Amino acid sequence: MSRVYNFSAGPSMLPEEVLKKAASEMLDYEGSGQSVMEMSHRSKVFDNIIKTAEKLLRELMNIPDNYKVLFLQGGASTQFAAIPLNFMNGSNKADYVITGQWAKKAFAEAQKYGDAKAVASSADKTFSYIPKLDKSMFRSDADYVYICMNNTIYGTVYHEIPDTGNIPLIADISSCFLSEPIDVTKFGMLYGGAQKNVAPAGLTICIIREDLLGNARDITPTMLNYTIHADANSLYNTPPCYTIYICKLVLEWIKELGGLEKMKERNEKKAKLLYDFLDNSKMFRGTVVPEDRSLMNVPFVTDSDELNAKFIEEATKNRLVNLKGHRTVGGMRASIYNAMPYEGVEKLVKFMSDFEKTNS
Ligand SMILES: *Cc1c(COP(=O)(O)O)cnc(C)c1O
Repeated sequence: MSRVYNFSAGPSMLPEEVLKKAASEMLDYEGSGQSVMEMSHRSKVFDNIIKTAEKLLRELMNIPDNYKVLFLQGGASTQFAAIPLNFMNGSNKADYVITGQWAKKAFAEAQKYGDAKAVASSADKTFSYIPKLDKSMFRSDADYVYICMNNTIYGTVYHEIPDTGNIPLIADISSCFLSEPIDVTKFGMLYGGAQKNVAPAGLTICIIREDLLGNARDITPTMLNYTIHADANSLYNTPPCYTIYICKLVLEWIKELGGLEKMKERNEKKAKLLYDFLDNSKMFRGTVVPEDRSLMNVPFVTDSDELNAKFIEEATKNRLVNLKGHRTVGGMRASIYNAMPYEGVEKLVKFMSDFEKTNS
């Protein structure tokens, strides 16, 4: 067996320890005589899995008791509609900050349901920075303010949480989930698809302040109503049981390593190695302004499309895979989520350095 270093933006690498544990428990989970894939979501065994996952998530992220944790399906993209349906319920106004494709899609969906306004955008420079925000930019009667915390495609991140005063702040954290500590109390809702940093595809985790629940619009589909899922402890219908189980294993892995402070340290060390190389290279350069650089997604380019293509092809032959950038940025993107080992980034940087010598 020989595994590649997978730099995909998502689905992405899972910790090898987690995959091995899952393999060892595949046929007989803790003496139940079945795989987690096969068991009833109403069984005692599964109840213990989902409760443990929630407990670990609360512990690692320091989630206060007045927040609900929901394990849902439909991906982050389903929340783009669920959020306005559940929370555009006062003035029908919501303010969006447009920092890339995912924020744009969420904004477009919200416009279907009410007065969604783009209060700031970094589209003018291909989303290579985070717009400077000020409390005065938000409408004081907005039902919520929406941001995409880490912009997977463009490689930017909010290093500071915007101050929205009394207006609930909602953030998509799909691509930075569990990558470093985050102050949950600053948000009305945090949510993300699991397939970048938490589990395989199929699970979306929503963390919602309780007082915001209970006012979904009448037309809200039952399956998009957060209150229904909160009241049923995420068991209104069949949840993605196996993905929740892997999520539990990933959370145990993070806890074992020392929690989110430790995760942040590891991620900073990996990102620094790559950014330092990019800053000193004459062939490669990062596409994001240094102060807004993501720890998770690192887009970079050379000045030649031909060279970019050659790089990606040769990297793949060297088992460094999925380095092609998003079509709107071009070039390359290395996604270095929690599960990417330091050695993977080391191998990438060594390969880039060799490539630069050979091709210049
Ligand atoms: C991947 C991603 C999404 C889309 O997630 P799905 O689960 O595929 O709907 C949304 N937002 C961000 C920030 C992402 O990285």
